[in-house]
Amino acid sequence: MENIYDLVIIGGGPAGLSAGLYGARGKLKTLILEKEKNGGQIVITHQVDNYPGSLENATGPSLTARMVQQAKAFGCEIQRGEVVSFDFQSDIKTIRTKDAEYRTKSVIIASGANPRKMSCPGEDKLIGKGVSYCATCDADFFEDFEVFVIGGGDSAIEEAQYLTKFARKVTIVHRRQGFRCAPIALDKAKENPKIEFLLDTVVEEVKGDGILESIVFKNKITGEVTEYFADEEDGTFGCFVFIGYVPETEIYRGVLDCDEVGYFVAGDSTETKIPGVFVAGDCRQKPVRQVVTATSDGAVAAVMAERYIASKFD
Ligand code: NAP
Repeated sequence: MENIYDLVIIGGGPAGLSAGLYGARGKLKTLILEKEKNGGQIVITHQVDNYPGSLENATGPSLTARMVQQAKAFGCEIQRGEVVSFDFQSDIKTIRTKDAEYRTKSVIIASGANPRKMSCPGEDKLIGKGVSYCATCDADFFEDFEVFVIGGGDSAIEEAQYLTKFARKVTIVHRRQGFRCAPIALDKAKENPKIEFLLDTVVEEVKGDGILESIVFKNKITGEVTEYFADEEDGTFGCFVFIGYVPETEIYRGVLDCDEVGYFVAGDSTETKIPGVFVAGDCRQKPVRQVVTATSDGAVAAVMAERYIASKFD
């Protein structure tokens, strides 16, 4: 007999894992397809201390591991695979990865978002050679080096704080005076003797021959351009970029409704205009993107999928 899932979830971040838990626990034959590592953004987050019930000093990876374990305990399958095409129009929907095809009664897209790049000259060729989007992954390469953190949101300020455990000095570079992050995080950063601020400033270019050697800044108010060079003894320094995220919704645009940035548009019910297709987590247009709102979306979407299946197929 053909293997038809009740629910296929695209993305194994907090939204997808929560949907997997709720779907499997609701006795749906449930599969999560994740193209990289489970956990999405939290897997590159050193500390998650605002998720209710988080243990003290809980890390993103440890929280992810517990979510995976819990979903699997209820029978949720998790497979590696990047969705390359799909057909959502029939009652039984088809999802294709490079190596496999899946058939399912319902779908939850929890594809998340990827770090936004600065899009300045030099950035692409220096990724992994001084330019990074993940402090958890790369901080220890900069033990006792200088580091710049670009951005003024929660990610930039929290990750700057984390980077002070490694770097001898962390300079937060932000394009204006006001910050988007939580005030408590900003206060902590201001109190940290290793953190300095360079405001009203953007990065114009990053330079280096195989490794990051200098960074060109422009003051947005005065127009002044300055170039920072690596300390001679160090030879390099770090540039950690946290300037927001771009939703991973490209292949669905035109089929499902998205806003001008590309976030899926769906109400609190997570339903899309295609019956049986739901969207959850950071890929969805919403006012607050947190682990707790992602897991909430996942739960809602799975319950909605369960109700849809009961009304359509039972
Ligand atoms: P964000 O809140 O979108 O902030 C992005 C920051 O980068 C803003 O300060 C923005 O400046 C700046 N920026 C954007 N494009 C830029 C560019 N091209 N050049 C220079 N600067 C640029 O992104 P985020 O900090 O990654 O956070 C994403 C979401 O996750 C948010 O909802 C956040 O609350 C959430 N989050 C929560 C936590 C937590 O609760 N512990 C931790 C991390 C993230 P402007 O302010 O001038 O626009």
